[in-house]
Amino acid sequence: MSRIILGIIGGGQLGSMLSSAAKKLDIKTTIYCDDINAPAQNFCDEFIFGKYDDKEKILQFVNQANVITYEFENIPYETLNEISKKKSVLPKPSINKLIQNRLIEKDFVNKLNLRTTQYTFVEKKSDIETLKDFLPGILKTTTMGYDGKGQYPINQLEDIDKLNIDFSKQYILEKLVKLKKEISVIITRFGSNSYEIYEPIENIHEDQILKYSKIPAEISKTIFSQSKEWAINIAEELKYIGTLCVEFFIDKNDNLYVNEIAPRVHNSGHLTINAYNISQFENHVRAVCSLDKVPLKKIANAKMVNLIGSQIEPYRQNIKLNKNEFFFDYLKKETKDKRKMGHITTLL
Ligand code: ADP
Ligand code: MG
Repeated sequence: MSRIILGIIGGGQLGSMLSSAAKKLDIKTTIYCDDINAPAQNFCDEFIFGKYDDKEKILQFVNQANVITYEFENIPYETLNEISKKKSVLPKPSINKLIQNRLIEKDFVNKLNLRTTQYTFVEKKSDIETLKDFLPGILKTTTMGYDGKGQYPINQLEDIDKLNIDFSKQYILEKLVKLKKEISVIITRFGSNSYEIYEPIENIHEDQILKYSKIPAEISKTIFSQSKEWAINIAEELKYIGTLCVEFFIDKNDNLYVNEIAPRVHNSGHLTINAYNISQFENHVRAVCSLDKVPLKKIANAKMVNLIGSQIEPYRQNIKLNKNEFFFDYLKKETKDKRKMGHITTLL
């Protein structure tokens, strides 16, 4: 049989790690990205640079691949939908469309009777004046946000005038949860009631960007099982194929909330590369390429630290690592503030 070629849209670090996982399975990867400096071109077999609405270039990409997946959410629905008329796109474009919009995503979660934060749609500035009940809160763009981008903390109504908010975009206003902890659950679904699920991961954000992740999460047994059940429920309801991550909040009274769903591999799961027999990336490739599902086994507890901006520098100078430490450099050309440049996983 000829080798499978997996097409991946998006060329960031998640694309790199998917490519490395595919290589291990003897699957070739072609990456399509609108960034000519996309770091994943260092890890994939083929790289195509093009905009996400460049029909000709996308056709060239689609013709090369047997199955298409993606490593980030913000791809136009029309693009994924057009591709899906020619080749299998997994997860399905309709799932990505649902999750691209925070309002639709949260409505979907609520329909499953799973708790989310209190939220409401904000179309214009004057809407907020009647929404005192949602304060203190965070105003978030309904689409295109990530790593805290497009988010504005609002403590009181007067804040809005100081914030220079672009109201040509749509927002939700979300009430602030008094956080005790944040966790995530990563699941790879292969088909109906067929999945592999990782144990909950505890996450610490700084400046709304993930900084630390670790397993085991220090959580109650109830939260441990409830978070996994909710993730399974979401994956089954979406008839999802591939790896999906559910981010959760836990409040001071030990209530669990779904924060958001990522229809893709996730930063909090980087530690699965070293801590499990099969990483979230390998599992994703296995699921979308219809390979066997292998039972998950944890090798060790682990913690992961994201290296943001110039924090990568000392590690690039050949810092000596212990045997249980694994350093990943995403090989991004430019070091920028708040940019994820690499990470270190330590097995515990
Ligand atoms: P992004 O798409 O940028 O990841 P999130 O909605 O996950 O956006 O927000 C990023 C982080 O900001 C969260 O992980 C959490 O630390 C904080 N945050 C967001 N919304 C709330 C909220 N309603 N209450 C408390 N903290 C929040
Ligand atoms: Mg998030």
